Amino acid sequence: MTAPKKLFIKTYGCQMNVYDSERMAEALGGQGYVETSSPDDADMILLNTCHIREKAAEKVYSELGRFKGLKADKPDLKIGVAGCVAQAEGEEIMRRQPLVDLVVGPQSYHRLPELEAKARKGEKALDTEFPEEDKFEKLKARPKAKRGPTAFLTVQEAATSSAPSAWCPIPVAPRCRARPSAS
Ligand code: SF4
Repeated sequence: MTAPKKLFIKTYGCQMNVYDSERMAEALGGQGYVETSSPDDADMILLNTCHIREKAAEKVYSELGRFKGLKADKPDLKIGVAGCVAQAEGEEIMRRQPLVDLVVGPQSYHRLPELEAKARKGEKALDTEFPEEDKFEKLKARPKAKRGPTAFLTVQEAATSSAPSAWCPIPVAPRCRARPSAS
């Protein structure tokens, strides 16, 4: 039996990102990943970023730079950037920090398994599109056993450049999609 791959996710920002990190861990669970609390034994590190702070992107680049030693010791380690800095910076992240294998925007988390497979083949994997398909429909229903007594439910994502949301006052890249009422 092959040992599970380890996934380390570091989450910044609002409850939207906390929820998204849970969903990303679930999506990558299907690729044989289990979560770890330490980046040192991870096979994949994902930074789920927030753009709200001043110089947020610079702080992400600085954090990514700290993984240089880990990647040198473990060339198979994959490093990904998700969340609002990923959405805002896109391909620029890979250009500025070649350590990064994968960049995924908040509307594309359901595509993480394909992106991870691409990264495993040694290709750069980027998706910051606003796909036609709805990620809420594509992400699998949450297994009941994994839900605690409380859980986050996204009703609507709304942090847009034209109409910043109540919880996110910055003009971040659009992140607006309503969850279908039946899900
Ligand atoms: S929606 Fe706003 S507060 Fe939430 S992670 Fe993105 S930038 Fe940060």
